[in-house]
Amino acid sequence: MRDPRPDTRLDGRRDELDALLRRCVQCGLCLPVCATWLATGDETMSPRGRLLLLGDLLAQPADGPAIDPTVSRALATCIGCQACTAACPSGVPASLLEDAVRLAAPSGPAPAAVPGVLLGRLDEPAVLAAIGTLAAVGRGALRALLGPRWRGRLAGRRHVIATIGRLVGSVPRAPRSDRELARCLDRLCGHGEAPTCALPAAAAPRERVLWFAGCAADGLLPESSRRLRDLARWAGAEVVQPAGTACCGALAAHGDQPRRAEELRERNLAAWGGAGDEDGVTALVTEAAGCGVAIRGYGERLPAPQVDAIAWLARAGDRPPFGAVPLKVALHDPCHARHGQGIVAEPRALLRAVPGLVLLEPGEADACCGSGGAWGLRHPGLSAELGERKARHLAATGADLVVTANPGCLGQIADGLASLPHPTPPVLPLGDLLWYAAMRGAGDSRT
Ligand code: SF4
Ligand code: SF4
Repeated sequence: MRDPRPDTRLDGRRDELDALLRRCVQCGLCLPVCATWLATGDETMSPRGRLLLLGDLLAQPADGPAIDPTVSRALATCIGCQACTAACPSGVPASLLEDAVRLAAPSGPAPAAVPGVLLGRLDEPAVLAAIGTLAAVGRGALRALLGPRWRGRLAGRRHVIATIGRLVGSVPRAPRSDRELARCLDRLCGHGEAPTCALPAAAAPRERVLWFAGCAADGLLPESSRRLRDLARWAGAEVVQPAGTACCGALAAHGDQPRRAEELRERNLAAWGGAGDEDGVTALVTEAAGCGVAIRGYGERLPAPQVDAIAWLARAGDRPPFGAVPLKVALHDPCHARHGQGIVAEPRALLRAVPGLVLLEPGEADACCGSGGAWGLRHPGLSAELGERKARHLAATGADLVVTANPGCLGQIADGLASLPHPTPPVLPLGDLLWYAAMRGAGDSRT
């Protein structure tokens, strides 16, 4: 079915959008940070091109023709990563591209490989946990069938097994137990096995924080999420996790389900209830970068200022020292941290505080890895291409280890690295690496 005419979805906002579009001076400074332009070289897949297409649509009369499918695809493939907004000297807002995506695909094309009913439940930790288990079984089956480099053998193929491989390969995963994580990093570092795998909490907490793990962390990476809270306690936090919180609502908002996003926001605000100044709560700490941006959007009704977990750790200056981790580490910034919250210096400051660690910066660091939450499920081919491109840049640093702080990026980069035709470094949550460095530091102070 052809898309309806633009006017049916603009609700009389043409003048407002026209005014915002006039801010774009067509300088092109946004192009080198746009992942879809970098991968395709197609101007219509760039921020500037998409804004021109949106302008063309706005110029059409109310009874003009339906949107051309190629225009619709160019607009709908915008990831919403905000890299262009961060690079734009003219202040063109991200909301314009969000409107363009909504115009092109109001409820998003259903991904062929993922049933719509499942897509609508990706904000439930129990569903995500089941997906994590199924993905582990799927990866095991593919390894048995195709050998240890199974992902590389399926890269670029278009048959059904390749699609399954792509799906199960990009589900985020991390070491389940602390011992497994410590063994993995002990081996990489050439350390002897750590005598203990415990991270002590600070004897006297300095700050009381509300903690929001988020559904992806809860459902897919529960142990990494717990290690991040351990780190916060080690760095001096009293962590409060009220019962009854739900997904932050980002997935629903991006899936054009504003009512569901609103309902989730109200549930979270009710769960946080009266927590605030009178309880000594200084911050609402969020784990996943996408949750951070969504929750910041709740505005003045938040019980305390939203702070990303990595940013909170970086500012806890009088935490105990990290132990040595003699590794070359490449860092990938999640878009919703780097562009959405301006978190750039904080993870670098933490990593530079780890003795022996050499921090490496990949090429095209501003560009999205192509995960984009449900975006990757809607555009699997382009998403895989972007994941491989990001993985090539990370591998080219010569790193022993790649780290990132967002579940979606973690899965996407793991899949991209595994699909490269040569040996590649492992990828871990940034919080897991910091937990290990803290644990080694705590061990050193005990000996
Ligand atoms: S939001 Fe990201 S994908 Fe979309 S135009 Fe901007 S840089 Fe490109
Ligand atoms: S950087 Fe801003 S002003 Fe320049 S082309 Fe991109 S959107 Fe337009």
